[in-house]
Amino acid sequence: MHVLSGIQPTGRFHWGNYFGAIRQYIDLQGEQAAYYFIANLHALTTVRDSALLRQYTLDAAIDLLSLGLDPNRAILFVQSDVPEVSELCWLLMTGAPMGWLERCHAYKDKKAKGLPADAGLFTYPVLMAADILAYDADTVPVGEDQTQHIEVCRDLAASFNHHFGETFVMPKAKVLDSSAKVPGTDGEKMSKSYNNTLEVFEDAKAQRKKIMRITTDSRPMDQPKEPDGDHLYQLYSLFANDAEKQAMADMYRRGGFGYGEVKKALADQAEKFFAEPRARRQEFESNPDRVQEILAAGAAKARKKAGEVLRRAKTACGLV
Ligand code: ATP
Ligand code: MG
Repeated sequence: MHVLSGIQPTGRFHWGNYFGAIRQYIDLQGEQAAYYFIANLHALTTVRDSALLRQYTLDAAIDLLSLGLDPNRAILFVQSDVPEVSELCWLLMTGAPMGWLERCHAYKDKKAKGLPADAGLFTYPVLMAADILAYDADTVPVGEDQTQHIEVCRDLAASFNHHFGETFVMPKAKVLDSSAKVPGTDGEKMSKSYNNTLEVFEDAKAQRKKIMRITTDSRPMDQPKEPDGDHLYQLYSLFANDAEKQAMADMYRRGGFGYGEVKKALADQAEKFFAEPRARRQEFESNPDRVQEILAAGAAKARKKAGEVLRRAKTACGLV
């Protein structure tokens, strides 16, 4: 497997990022190739503060390393350190039909809400396609929200290959059924930009407070409730083992419990689950030079591969 995935430094990582994407990164490292990057070029469409973008980028690297990303088994780098990708993006841009991009939800949703969208957001799927194709990746671990963009990537690759001859490897999304779309504190998709996140490295006390405020329905306490489809139960299931999940589901169906009990159990589980990475984070935090070295070494390896693929693509379409 040739694995690649990226994550935006648009804020601190949350449970959705971890269970949907980062956990897969860690499981898949050590495959034939595993490239993971911090997508600062994508983040630039939303983070318009230079100091903040720099901070989020470093935090993202420290978070990933603390969660178990191993630079000896995977290549970790920052997107903008590989300029070959931006050049490849242009090659793909010239063959990207407007209609395909107009249908993409990141842009469509923003427009539907009447929010101003820029060309960076509109062409996001093309840069994402370049990100993937530049490393001959065949497997892209992501959450469900990214599957549409990977379809666009496949269409762009197929169209380029059709015009100019076999150039790009066809990638496939890899989505985990159990955590394809982790809900936020409001029941919508947990997202850095929706203000509904529970963060992986948040102060435990502050997190407990947020958990206690997770929205629930106004079901009287004695009434039984179906756990499937309940976002609090879904969040609990991320951390619990099979027996614990079963016991919680039975309690829901029996009724006679308060949501406060579930929230407390959830907060306990989450605290236990992330205790180790939290401790490890302090070590990396006190050694930012080491983190920068890891990123620089990763970028050098990533550039080598992206340079080869770019050369292949430029030759195919007549630029060289
Ligand atoms: P933003 O709001 O800035 O888009 P985000 O929270 O959606 O941030 P991204 O950096 O866009 O995070 O996504 C990183 C990875 O995390 C992607 O693979 C994405 O599919 C996954 N992901 C994000 N949110 C969730 C979620 N709620 N459940 C499962 N996976 C998710
Ligand atoms: Mg997102």
